[in-house]
Amino acid sequence: MQHVITLSDISKSFDGDIAIDNISLSIADGEFLTLLGPSGCGKTTVLRLIGGFEEFDSGEIRIDGTPVSGMVPEDRPVNTVFQSYALFPHMNVYDNIAFGLRIAGMPETDIAHEVPKALQLVRLEKMAHRMPSELSGGQQQRVAIARAIVNKPRVLLLDEPLSALDYRLRKDMQKELKELQRTLGITFVFVTHDQEEAFTMSDRVVVMNEGRIEQVGTPKDVYEDPANLYVARFVGEINVLDGVITGVSETNYHAEVEGVSVVVKAKRNFAEGDKVHVLLRPEDFRVEVMREVNDDPELAEKFAKAMLKGTVDRTYYKGATYDVDITLDDGKKILVSEFFDEDAENLYFHAGDRVAVGWFEGWEVVLPHEG
Ligand code: ATP
Repeated sequence: MQHVITLSDISKSFDGDIAIDNISLSIADGEFLTLLGPSGCGKTTVLRLIGGFEEFDSGEIRIDGTPVSGMVPEDRPVNTVFQSYALFPHMNVYDNIAFGLRIAGMPETDIAHEVPKALQLVRLEKMAHRMPSELSGGQQQRVAIARAIVNKPRVLLLDEPLSALDYRLRKDMQKELKELQRTLGITFVFVTHDQEEAFTMSDRVVVMNEGRIEQVGTPKDVYEDPANLYVARFVGEINVLDGVITGVSETNYHAEVEGVSVVVKAKRNFAEGDKVHVLLRPEDFRVEVMREVNDDPELAEKFAKAMLKGTVDRTYYKGATYDVDITLDDGKKILVSEFFDEDAENLYFHAGDRVAVGWFEGWEVVLPHEG
């Protein structure tokens, strides 16, 4: 695979405080890569280092194989779209987009060809003569993107470009941006703290924490096989059960989880006696009301294999699903999401119901116990 950008052992401090702590990352040609993490974890700094707006303290960044240390932003084959789109307020849309091409000395006849093409890509063909103040937030954002793609950079860096938009527009723009990236084949490096946004658009996600990279992978990898508790917790709801490995067989492990003997599968290697976390997403669980389990020998047998017992605290209607708070008999609280079903009879729980809790076999993630 060809890499457009490689960061090797990059570190950066501000006034002695470490913002980026020795990170390495390769970004593939044509990839949509998202830096994801909470406020202050260093996402913007990584983008600014690639763009040339900050100098790193140590390490190396290469773009298309060339080290870029000391190279000013204008000389790098990358463009940046910032959170505040910073259009020139006294110029109309056409001139805003043409600005960079004029600076680069492109003849007006060529500019007259390129600007409408860029406007078409962001679906603003009819707005060329509007002033920025006459555009909605979403339209202004699209002008900013058209301005950034008009000179066909190798890489587009986008720093939370959708954060000022309302929910609906933001969702639409996410799809449009992804589509645009596919059409153009340009590498996009996108920054967000919104997990859903990252998953919707990205080929790969980089989960960051305090200046370090915790995991790099496809959205599916990161969600279904998180490298550690931090990643698991950052990308959606997770239940963390505590356990200990009690036996090792060829294909699986026996474990005592929240005081109950169960069989688990794990991608990592464990030995008898190891303390572990067993991670389950709310939608991984299967819950049955105890009296129904007791009445149904088949169900009872199915559940006997992995059956934690607990009591329903409350339920929440969520539209497509409903959530159930359950306290297990050892005191651990879990959150379960149940999908509505045609055969809904068994899916309704009520506060106080005694329930049996199992999970879909193999959906658990077993990690070494932290701390
Ligand atoms: P956000 O989502 O809030 O934008 P972020 O993940 O993009 O956060 P950065 O802006 O990269 O985080 O900041 C990382 C750390 O570096 C923070 O602790 C921040 O305060 C610090 N920092 C960033 N830029 C500067 C600067 N110019 N001077 C001093 N400290 C800075």
